[in-house]
Amino acid sequence: MAETKPVPFPRGEEESWFEAAEGGAILYQQCAECGAVPSYPRTMCPSCWSTALVNRTSSGRGVIHTFTVQHRPGAAGFADEVPYTLVLVDLDEGVRVLADLRDYEEGALAVGMRVKARFEPGPGNVVLPRFRPAAQETT
Ligand SMILES: [Zn+2]
Repeated sequence: MAETKPVPFPRGEEESWFEAAEGGAILYQQCAECGAVPSYPRTMCPSCWSTALVNRTSSGRGVIHTFTVQHRPGAAGFADEVPYTLVLVDLDEGVRVLADLRDYEEGALAVGMRVKARFEPGPGNVVLPRFRPAAQETT
């Protein structure tokens, strides 16, 4: 029997992030009081403790902060996908996100590479951003 992949169960402040991903966008929060951009959805600003966090839409563009090529699956359900590449991307809006990198040429992978998000179905009923080199953009 094939192992299943872990499935996210969005709740609370995460729900709007997953709803935006279904529509092809990455949401991020910005504090209306101090301007901070927390790196994942929260109920309170980690810089000034304000609850005045406003959802904004990212361009989906950014640069690779760091990466790893997984040759051993992080969970048994990913065994048929190795090797796969995980990237931490600094979005142009200042938010750091973790996602897969797809469709890049071997040898071209580098810190600082410009990337752009596309959205694909993930495990369960969620849609997730997957990054590709920005040079592959068609729109
Ligand atoms: Zn703040």
